[in-house]
Amino acid sequence: MCLFCKIANNEIPSEIILENDDFIAFHDINPKAPVHILAIPKLHVDSFNELTPDIMSKMTSFIQNVAAEVNIKESGYRIITNVGDNGGQEVNHLHFHVLGGAKLKWGHFADSDPKSFL
Ligand code: AMP
Repeated sequence: MCLFCKIANNEIPSEIILENDDFIAFHDINPKAPVHILAIPKLHVDSFNELTPDIMSKMTSFIQNVAAEVNIKESGYRIITNVGDNGGQEVNHLHFHVLGGAKLKWGHFADSDPKSFL
């Protein structure tokens, strides 16, 4: 069973923000912003590549509710999902990073020359 399946099953402790039958949201263990939450489906889905429109449509309102729960819905936030090796995905269970609580910079991409990746 993968790491996030174990968190969804309560086999590994996490700081849960919001949970329903289909999804769970918990604090990222290594936050990159004042608020950094991971929202995942309880059903194992490897990545965004395998995500179905049915699950995505339900996740939309779940993530909106997570943002409201931690009071960043109005101030603004960023949603990121890393996909695969080049995307920097480290945990192979679909997760949306929900980042907020401060004015976020565009960081890595701020002044990147696309050619610098080649
Ligand atoms: P990614 O690189 O997009 O796959 O993101 C994986 C995220 O999972 C990272 O931001 C990690 O800090 C986070 N993470 C890893 N293990 C745990 C854990 N046990 N509880 C909460 N977050 C975790």
